[in-house]
Amino acid sequence: MAEGADNETTPRLRLDREKVRGEFGKRLDSLSEQHILACYQCGNCSSGCPLAEEMDLLPSTVMHLVQLGQSEAVLNSRSIWVCASCLQCTVRCPKGIDIQKVMDVLRQMALAEGIDHFGPDQVDPRNAAEVPQPGLVSAYRKLST
Ligand code: SF4
Ligand code: SF4
Repeated sequence: MAEGADNETTPRLRLDREKVRGEFGKRLDSLSEQHILACYQCGNCSSGCPLAEEMDLLPSTVMHLVQLGQSEAVLNSRSIWVCASCLQCTVRCPKGIDIQKVMDVLRQMALAEGIDHFGPDQVDPRNAAEVPQPGLVSAYRKLST
């Protein structure tokens, strides 16, 4: 993780009962078929993630923020898009949480809420000429509705 990234990985939070007990966590649990409150913040997922250095929120921080009902912070994070679905976090979790699946559902939720979208118009034509076609197709599949 980049030097001084602590502030980025531990955003200032405003906690309130409504958010912590709100629909966001319940819906995510239901869609991902996981029990995210079981996470006890051991950090195994983050320490094994090959893309942690590129993320603004570590995978374990994403889980913590979900537990606290911080939908805005999570759905707007770069991490859910940086995640490469490699499953490393999932196999390392001692609580059996499929974190990769949670990340996938978070991407779907962000797209459904119109928070993020990736379309052909956002690809620099100079890059498009060089990026392998399968790379572009997989990016569209991952980042578009
Ligand atoms: S699935 Fe995503 S969050 Fe989990 S280790 Fe791989 S890149 Fe990191
Ligand atoms: S490995 Fe599992 S229990 Fe540990 S911080 Fe990550 S999600 Fe939580």
